[in-house]
Amino acid sequence: MSKKILILPGDGIGPEIVNEAVKALTCLRDDFGLDVDLDEALVGGAAIDATGGPLPATTLELAKEADAVLLGAVGGYKWESLDIAIRPEKGLLGLRAGLDLFANLRPAILYPQLADASTLKPEVVSGLDILIVRELTGGIYFGQPRGVRTLDSGEREGYNTLAYRESEIERICRVAFDVAGKRGKHVCSVDKANVLECTELWREVATRIGAEHADIELHHMYVDNAAMQLVREPKQFDVMVTTNMFGDILSDCAAMLTGSIGMLPSASLDENGKGMYEPIHGSAPDIAGKGIANPLATILSVAMLLRYSLNEAAMAARIERAVDEVLDDGLRTTDIHSPGATEVGTEAMGDAVVEALRARA
Ligand code: NAD
Repeated sequence: MSKKILILPGDGIGPEIVNEAVKALTCLRDDFGLDVDLDEALVGGAAIDATGGPLPATTLELAKEADAVLLGAVGGYKWESLDIAIRPEKGLLGLRAGLDLFANLRPAILYPQLADASTLKPEVVSGLDILIVRELTGGIYFGQPRGVRTLDSGEREGYNTLAYRESEIERICRVAFDVAGKRGKHVCSVDKANVLECTELWREVATRIGAEHADIELHHMYVDNAAMQLVREPKQFDVMVTTNMFGDILSDCAAMLTGSIGMLPSASLDENGKGMYEPIHGSAPDIAGKGIANPLATILSVAMLLRYSLNEAAMAARIERAVDEVLDDGLRTTDIHSPGATEVGTEAMGDAVVEALRARA
């Protein structure tokens, strides 16, 4: 039976980059027999303009029915003055919550062809291949109580709550050990167990799940040290698993080690492997409509979608190889351009990937 993929182009450069990713998907369907049905819906600012809200009920319904969702990005200047409750980004949070996407997988891979795009020395980052597994639906971003209150003294106090249930820690750790089993067989669990009781529990549960995986090495690291080690010696890491907030910060740091925000895909998965896939960058309103956005992070998000939700590892590898080849050929969008390379726009980069795919048909 055909697998259903819901396409959500979103805002800004979203429709431009998603268009190129859909070209790659369509090529796999038409030339390589990938059995997929594609549908499209509105989210974010585009949905606000059309329906008054960032996540129409029909979009969430279609997302629930689909086997996987491919998202561009949401947000932009036009909607910044709206109340926070109905901004485009709420559409994204609504999708994550509505689909129970608790596991966020963010690879930070340095393509050898782009070694000089990093701000770190090439010998520190060349060959870098880290996967950060971030818990996405719990922790301090969701904990109650939260708010700003006025104390008896008249002074205001802001407060949030960091809370994790054992089951929440257990399921994200299981995802980390599962993916580590398919990679370098090493998990680093990041916490702040020396000062936060909640992450003391995190460490205890991670250790228990680790004991079930004798073939995988487990290390624990405090988050402050992890941040330092990421820039000091990043290649020591294979899979890092951590809380929502620590993962938010560490994954941006890891992404920047590669020097190219336009190259990195991400996956957000539920308990059954269903997922939403998107580039790690936003809607880049500063370059929207100019035809210069790098579509490779979105195209590589399709590869993750094929591997993790559709169980099509060979198709995923086809896409990854095609991206590798266009980089080998010296094609670069503005964000990854360097002297001697050939600068191309969004569409030409997408076409080159399709051409590289077809060359191996
Ligand atoms: P951004 O990631 O959109 O852009 C940061 C910088 O990187 C910009 O200079 C942009 O031009 C550049 N850039 C980003 N993607 C690129 C690509 N594919 N090719 C070339 N250059 C690229 O972050 P921002 O400027 O902080 O946010 C812009 C909007 O995106 C905001 O409304 C924000 O809320 C939203 N946002 C959405 C998501 C999402 O949809 N997942 C994530 C982050 C930010």
